[in-house]
Amino acid sequence: LLGPDGQLGITIFEEMTALAQRTGAINLGQGFPDEDGPAEIKDAAQAAIAAGANQYAPGKGILELREAVSAHQQRFYGLSPAPQTEVLVTTGATEGIAAALLAFAGPGDEVLTFEPFYDSYGAVIGLSGATHVTAPLLAPDFLPDMDALEAAFSERTRIVLLNNPHNPTGAVFPRQVLEHVVDLARRNDCLIITDEVYEHLTFGVSHIPVATLPGAGDRTVTISSAGKTFSFTGWKIGWLSGPQELVAAIRTVKQFLTYSSGTPFQAAIATALALPDEFYQGVADTLRRKRDILSEGLQAAGFDVYSPQGTYFVNVDTAPLGITDSVDLARRLPGLVGVAAIPVPVFCHPQGAERTRSLLRFAFCKKVEVLEEAASRLAGLS
Ligand code: PMP
Ligand code: GLN
Repeated sequence: LLGPDGQLGITIFEEMTALAQRTGAINLGQGFPDEDGPAEIKDAAQAAIAAGANQYAPGKGILELREAVSAHQQRFYGLSPAPQTEVLVTTGATEGIAAALLAFAGPGDEVLTFEPFYDSYGAVIGLSGATHVTAPLLAPDFLPDMDALEAAFSERTRIVLLNNPHNPTGAVFPRQVLEHVVDLARRNDCLIITDEVYEHLTFGVSHIPVATLPGAGDRTVTISSAGKTFSFTGWKIGWLSGPQELVAAIRTVKQFLTYSSGTPFQAAIATALALPDEFYQGVADTLRRKRDILSEGLQAAGFDVYSPQGTYFVNVDTAPLGITDSVDLARRLPGLVGVAAIPVPVFCHPQGAERTRSLLRFAFCKKVEVLEEAASRLAGLS
């Protein structure tokens, strides 16, 4: 958590967004859309405020949203978590991740993630006092090395913290990978905490929730968020579901993190979750087009491009341009060509950082004309 100077660090997302703002660069760094979600959902939030939904919500979330989460899981995955006991509303997925880790991991435990890993995982595992163990995802597909994954388990492994679809790589894990993870978790008697915030952002492949796999349900907590699917990252409404006793333990922790989450936004997201299938398909179709536009631009700029199957991030290898240090490049890129991106090594421990040293992540959840302008600026790099 401490930077090299011993000060508490700011996240790479804040650093790069601030740099983009200072230099006037196009911000393809921090992953947030430059267009809001549906107007009717904004209206629903305003209506909830006007109707007086302005005081604390119940700690576990308003019933309407817990029911909507359950109905959404039934509609898309055939799962039916009980709204009263098996669903918890959180302040974004970030709080769900933190509360789940703090509930189940402590000194002496190991928490296993893939590497690269989303930045909050490392920080919160650190706060819990547990040890963070990683297994690498390897280019070009960013699938795990299965032997390394198996070797990463020990008798101290308490939690496998998965992220699928995966940030920052954009990988969407196939059934065999997930089955293998479940098998290893069962053999080692671990919990699975799975961060599926990009569940609807997949391109031509289906997202398979871990909780749907045989043998997984009784040990899996699934986390998601309204930020990604509905383009309301600033509302910070997330949720999680899983077996009653696990959800109850996480809720105990949540009480003392935030107690409860934004009341009128919960009401609006309950409405959003009920949007028709076409809405969800439209989100994925639009992003797929944007992925292709930015990927082509990055290719034309001379990078090796790893076009993703999910999320709104595309990774490139900068080595073909003779650049081998993506951290250094990310700091200079706004000044050089007016585009900001995130270096992949920041999502790694030192060994993984070495392996991903020349990888850079660009977000494509931006307007088409913004992506086209970014592509034309990046063409100036070679
Ligand atoms: N997990 C992953 C993998 C993410 O990419 C993000 C956000 N970008 C989060 C969690 C945090 O989600 P929220 O904004 O809902 O807290
Ligand atoms: N999850 C977003 C990303 O990966 C950023 C969220 C944040 O700034 N914490 O870019």
